[in-house]
Amino acid sequence: MSNMEAPANTPVWVNEARCKACDKCVSVCPAGVLAMRQEVTSTLGSMIKVVHPDSCIGCTDCELACPDFAIYVADRKEFKFAKLTDEAKERKERVIKNNYRILDEDEA
Ligand code: SF4
Ligand code: SF4
Repeated sequence: MSNMEAPANTPVWVNEARCKACDKCVSVCPAGVLAMRQEVTSTLGSMIKVVHPDSCIGCTDCELACPDFAIYVADRKEFKFAKLTDEAKERKERVIKNNYRILDEDEA
């Protein structure tokens, strides 16, 4: 659980001040929700991004995997999460093949 106030209607959110861009949350997310975006001001040149919040299934694997308590998942009693789809699983594979970096199609 977060020590930050949960944003309304958000399944998963990040405290960027804590993120050290280790990629762990991206590697465990089964639904391709997360990816690393380029961030020149960060130590490793990247920063976590919640790219597909609508695909989050609320498994909390990202929150459990994060060594820095930088990513948080909404309470199941307060948020209705998505079901895991083939599209989300396929996106996860592509993100991993892309070295955890955000896919070109998801660049803002
Ligand atoms: S709660 Fe699960 S599905 Fe949602 S972002 Fe975290 S690891 Fe991915
Ligand atoms: S696991 Fe935590 S520290 Fe590592 S990239 Fe994800 S949010 Fe950042």
